[in-house]
Order: sequence, then structure tokens, then C-alpha cells
Amino acid sequence: MFPDHVKIPEKFEVKPARLEASKTALIIVDMQNAFAHEKGRLFVPESRKTIEPIKKLLEKARSKNVLLVYTQDWHQKDDPEFNIWGEHAVAGTWEAEIVDELKPSDRDVLVKKLRYDGFYGTYLDDVLRMKKIEKTVIAGTVANICVLHTAGSAAIRGYEVFIPIDCISALYEFDYMSTLRQATFLYRAILTTHDKIDFI
Ligand code: ZN
Repeated sequence: MFPDHVKIPEKFEVKPARLEASKTALIIVDMQNAFAHEKGRLFVPESRKTIEPIKKLLEKARSKNVLLVYTQDWHQKDDPEFNIWGEHAVAGTWEAEIVDELKPSDRDVLVKKLRYDGFYGTYLDDVLRMKKIEKTVIAGTVANICVLHTAGSAAIRGYEVFIPIDCISALYEFDYMSTLRQATFLYRAILTTHDKIDFI
């Protein structure tokens, strides 16, 4: 009934991005121990490969005073999401912390979120609007879950979305590719890589 193979309907293009530093936010989605540390309960092995490129992107953004936002999955003990994924990233626990390699500074914005979407029930949109942000660079994990929901939510709110494809990770290749498809097809996201982004 279902095909074993599906054709990717388009060739994805990776483009350079020159982004005005004062109008851009770099949003690092859920690079927490739960997902990006091998001892996390929802570990995404591919996330380890994204740590170096994300780190370089963060350094570049910091040097140009780009607004840095980190989202954190932040669940209460009996969160209904645990019916799907099992318990993970409980508020205030080690799993909910950002991995050591990407530790935020005290100037960065931390957004504790209840659901896949970084905007849902959080102050993220207010923070971006206050700072007159127009463009978002969205990196992190899991690509087809919290990254895609946050990217979609940003696009729906009128922000331009840039996705450095070497800075996102998924459990399955199919999920990763479908993220690129949805992000570009639905939300008109621009695909780029960490070294092709310049903050000006
Ligand atoms: Zn969660």
C-alpha cells in the first residue's frame, strides 16, 4: 500500500545569507542534554555533529551582537507529551539544561517551552518584536519536530526564516529531508550553512 521509496520532489538549494545583525535573531532550539547528550533519554545521535557548526555560528553571532535565543523543552512531571515520548526534559533537571558545549551567556534570551513550538505560550514573539527583529536563523534539534514547528510559527508571524542545514539534526534521514521540504515549500525558508551566513 505504501511505497518503499519516495522521490524527493525538488533539488534543495543552499544559499549564502548576509543578514543585518540588528534585525536578526539566532534561535537555538532544544540543544539540551535530553536530546544532544548521549545520556539524554531522547538522544538524537546526529545532533553531536551539529555542535561544532552551531558553536561557530554562535561565536560569529556573538561577535556582531546578534540577539541569541535558546529554547528549552521544559516539562512538568505529568506532561501529556510524555504519553508520546516518555518522560524527558523535566523542568529544572539536568536533561533540561543546554549542553555544556553551547552554554548560553547571561545576555542571551532563554525561552522555556511546553510544546514543540517555541512561540506557543512563551514570550518569544514579544522579545523579537521589542528588538525589531525581522529575520530568524533557526538551528538545533529535533529537525522535524521542534525546529520545524518553531520555524513554521516564525514564518506565520511574518519573520523571514533561514535554516543552516548543517546545524539541524533528526533521528531519521527521511525526517531530516522532509523538514527541508516543509520549511522551504510551506514557509519559504532559505536553506544555508553556518559558514555561508554573515552578520553585517
Ligand atoms: Zn518535549
